[in-house]
Amino acid sequence: MTPIRLALVGLGKIARDQHLPAIAGDKRFTLAAVVSRSSGVDGAPHFATLAELLASDVTVDAVALCTPPQPRHALAHQALAAGKHVMLEKPPGATLSEVEDLRQVAAARSLTLQTTWHSRCAAGVQPARQWLADRAVKAVRICWKEDVRVWHPGQTWIWEAGGLGVFDPGINALSIVTAILPRPFFLARGVLHTPSNLQAPVQAELDFTDAAGAPIRAEFDFLQTGPQSWDIEVDTDDGALKLTHGGARLWINDHLVYEGPDREYPGLYTEFARLIADGSSDVDVSPLRHVADAFLLSERVSAPPFIE
Ligand code: NAP
Repeated sequence: MTPIRLALVGLGKIARDQHLPAIAGDKRFTLAAVVSRSSGVDGAPHFATLAELLASDVTVDAVALCTPPQPRHALAHQALAAGKHVMLEKPPGATLSEVEDLRQVAAARSLTLQTTWHSRCAAGVQPARQWLADRAVKAVRICWKEDVRVWHPGQTWIWEAGGLGVFDPGINALSIVTAILPRPFFLARGVLHTPSNLQAPVQAELDFTDAAGAPIRAEFDFLQTGPQSWDIEVDTDDGALKLTHGGARLWINDHLVYEGPDREYPGLYTEFARLIADGSSDVDVSPLRHVADAFLLSERVSAPPFIE
C-alpha cells in the first residue's frame, strides 16, 4: 500500500498536539510537507505558503488545514484546484457558503473533502447515539465551560470576526448533540455576551427545542475558573444519559458504562483514508449551522472588556 502523501498547513496547537502524532502513528499517511509561516518539522520539507508548496517539486496527495477558520476557505480552494484531497479542521469554514462552495468544487473534481468534528470520535459518543436511538428524549442540558486563558493563550484570532469566541469550543458540544440526538432541533432563543473590546462572544446561553418539543439548553462559558465542564445530560423516558469529559465518558443512570482511550484524531485520519479510498466526501455543516443560527437569532449583551 502506498501511503497518502499529506501536507499539514498551519503549525499551531492542534497541529502539534494531535495531527502530528496521529499522522506519525498511521501507516496509511506520510508527512510529505509542512506549510507554516513560523516553523517547521524535522524531516519534512517546509514551505512558508501553500502556493509555494504547490509550485514546488514536492508531491502531495492531500492537505490537512489546521489554521484558524478565517483563512481556511482560500487555502482549501487552492488545494482542491491543484487536485488535492482536503481535510478541514473544525469549524470547516468561517461561513456556511464557503463550505458549500468547497463541497461543490470537490465534487466537480472527484476529490475528497472532509469536515472533521473531532469530538464525535470521543469514546462515548457512538455508544450514546446507539443508546438514545430507540428512546424518547425529554430534555437535554449542555454545560461547556472552560477557562480561555488556560486553553487558548495568545489565540487572538478567536476574538476576531469569524473566530467564533466561546463557540470555538461550544461547537464541539453541538457536533456531539447533532450526532447523538435522534430528532432534529432548532434554536428558539439565545443570549450572546460579547466583551466591549472584542468581536466574538465570551459566553452564550441557548435554548433549543427538538422536533417533538423537548427543551435543549446549552450554556457555553469561556471564563470558567476552577473545575472545567464539557458535559451533556439527556433525560429520556427510559433513564438518564450523561457524557462527560468532552464525550470520553458515558454514564447511564449515574453509572459509568463506557470509557475509552483518546482516539479522536487517529479516528479522523482513519476516516480520511477511508473516504479517499472510496472516492467520497463527508461534508456535514450541522454544528456550524446551529452557530450561525445563534448569531442570527440571539440577543446581544455587552460584557466587560476581556484582557488576557
Ligand atoms: P493556533 O494555536 O492559534 O494555531 C493556528 C495556526 O494556524 C497558527 O499557529 C499559524 O501557524 C496558522 N495560521 C495561518 N493563518 C493564520 C492566521 N491568519 N491567523 C493565525 N494563525 C494562522 O490555533 P489552534 O488551537 O491550533 O486551532 C486551529 C484550528 O484547530 C481552529 O479552527 C480550532 O478550532 C481547531 N482546533 C483546536 C483545538 C485546540 O485544542 N487548540 C482542538 C481542536 C480543533 P503557522 O505560524 O505555522 O503558519
